[in-house]
Amino acid sequence: MGRGNAATAGPLIANTPPAADELEVTLLGPGYGESVVLHLGGGTWAVVDSCVASNGTPRPLNYLTSIGIDPSVAVKLITATHWHDDHIRGMGRMVETCEAAQFCCASALLKSEFLAIVNSSEGRAQHGISHGAREIHRVFSSLRERRSTPMFAGASRRIFSEGASELWSLSPSDTAFNKFLTNVGQLVPKVGKARERISPLTPNDAAVVLWVSLGDAAILLGSDLERPGWIEILQSTTRPTGKAAAFKIPHHGSANAHEAKVWQEMLQTDAIASLTPWQKAGHSLPKVEDIKRILSFTRNAYATATGQMPKKQARSRNHAVQRTLKESGVTIRQPPISTGQVRLRRKLDQSASWEVDLAGSARHLTEMVNRVA
Ligand SMILES: [Zn+2]
Repeated sequence: MGRGNAATAGPLIANTPPAADELEVTLLGPGYGESVVLHLGGGTWAVVDSCVASNGTPRPLNYLTSIGIDPSVAVKLITATHWHDDHIRGMGRMVETCEAAQFCCASALLKSEFLAIVNSSEGRAQHGISHGAREIHRVFSSLRERRSTPMFAGASRRIFSEGASELWSLSPSDTAFNKFLTNVGQLVPKVGKARERISPLTPNDAAVVLWVSLGDAAILLGSDLERPGWIEILQSTTRPTGKAAAFKIPHHGSANAHEAKVWQEMLQTDAIASLTPWQKAGHSLPKVEDIKRILSFTRNAYATATGQMPKKQARSRNHAVQRTLKESGVTIRQPPISTGQVRLRRKLDQSASWEVDLAGSARHLTEMVNRVA
């Protein structure tokens, strides 16, 4: 390992919490979904995004409880980076449970997200809405009940500060926010002139990238932000300076979220990088070329799981067969997707090195090349 990082792999991860002067970044991911759990020192925790275990409970809550932490008092910040299904499952329950946490999400929203927030903020019920909108509704209803004002993330905004720790949002950019305003403006009835066609905002355009600075250490959490968003971050003159030692790779390693300058200008040499794989309807990330590219930028790269859905099962079933199965009361399940976590810990002292722990299906990224190929 480079720069004295020690990596250990084992089936179980030590069920002990970090010391008060120890930082932690844990990436939790089944094959579909991701969440980052951060210990900011002194027993203060933050959670970024949510995914659920097979029994439906949010993984960040399971993890914190498993190491003896009470999420209802210890979690001080929850961030939903964007409202894509693989990042927000269980978010409503997270917000309800973590009563001491401030909630933060992107300032730029899709029209459907905007409407879901408006409805829940005004206490209106919603019917026939998507899974994402249901989570939004649950989150904002819970915040309204406890009279907690949500924070809206944008470029170069300090969203949290306690002791030696600071969290900054680096996105969504003003460009994304303006796109949101123009898109939402279409909801206002207009008389006369025909509407202009405006390119819609995509969830990944508006994803919240976080910069976490803890004493002399910095961490960059890339969410699913795609390349145009990264270009705007790189051009910013108001974002925190310095180079991060750890990187949550954006958009599951996808090429459309890659920008070489991020590695050159925002990350230390051989930064510790981690990702969660993604798979849906026969498509999966990262691809072999993505893995190779990432490994050309750092030797310290990890994935929460290497397993890919077998190609046969990934292909959707014949519709008629599917209907027959459904009518016979047969539950159609995806094959079980392995679970895993990549955990980094480091003492707050200057010059301390990071320790990497891999649990469950988590592996070094080199091990993923053969599986995906
Ligand atoms: Zn994603």
